Amino acid sequence: MEVRELLYEGKAKRVYTTDDPQYLVVAYKDDATAFNGQKKGTISGKGIVNNRMSNLLMARLEREGVPTHLVRELNDRETLVRRVAIVPLEVIVRNAAAGSFSRRYGVEEGVVFAAPTLEFSYKNDELGDPLLNDDHIVALKLAAPEELAAIRRYALTVNRLLQELWKGCGVTLVDFKLEFGRLADGTIVLADEISPDTCRLWDAKTGEKLDKDRFRQDLGGVEEAYSRVMERLTGLIQGEEGM
Ligand code: ADP
Ligand code: MG
Repeated sequence: MEVRELLYEGKAKRVYTTDDPQYLVVAYKDDATAFNGQKKGTISGKGIVNNRMSNLLMARLEREGVPTHLVRELNDRETLVRRVAIVPLEVIVRNAAAGSFSRRYGVEEGVVFAAPTLEFSYKNDELGDPLLNDDHIVALKLAAPEELAAIRRYALTVNRLLQELWKGCGVTLVDFKLEFGRLADGTIVLADEISPDTCRLWDAKTGEKLDKDRFRQDLGGVEEAYSRVMERLTGLIQGEEGM
């Protein structure tokens, strides 16, 4: 597959067209942003971790019946994916209170929910990614009711599978953000990335944050946290393969 031209440069990745219109190459950068781009920095090696982790997780999800955009990893930072029209929703699954949920509703971080909680926001930087309910999504024609139902179902399945996987690594999956897209035939698939940029991952024993909150909150040890959480995941997967 030949890379053609830069289609889009986002905050964390560059997206390139290829000689086949059905496929794109995603290239992961070390650039980090937070609070809708107000805070900027770099996390050395982040692109490599996020590329690898996202691909490992998506390959698993695919095996468990969740369709994803993943085709194959090309190198340390680049992956071939199926091109989709992104549904402009940030699909957030929460198992415990943290971040914007804690601030918005005045709930202490770490308060565990009785059941996973789904939340949607409009993926629109100019508007500041405002919160949306199901009716807003349909009214704004961001997704049809059947698409929204599929997205909800996939998001909860992803949560169940990833919660179990991370538990096996001694990591608590607090919350995460997903993006979905439509293939040319309208099929909904999981797209974008699943990484410490898009998940809250806490050490199950100590509660230590092992994700982008270390950058957001200036906690230090950002690079170390990304590589440690990656090592835990590869350790678990190698252990399974060795069985
Ligand atoms: P942003 O700053 O918009 O979050 P990123 O740096 O994450 O951007 O770059 C990735 C961009 O590519 C995002 O806009 C994301 O929605 C989009 N994207 C992710 N996967 C796909 C895909 N399979 N097809 C088309 N676009 C995608
Ligand atoms: Mg993004």
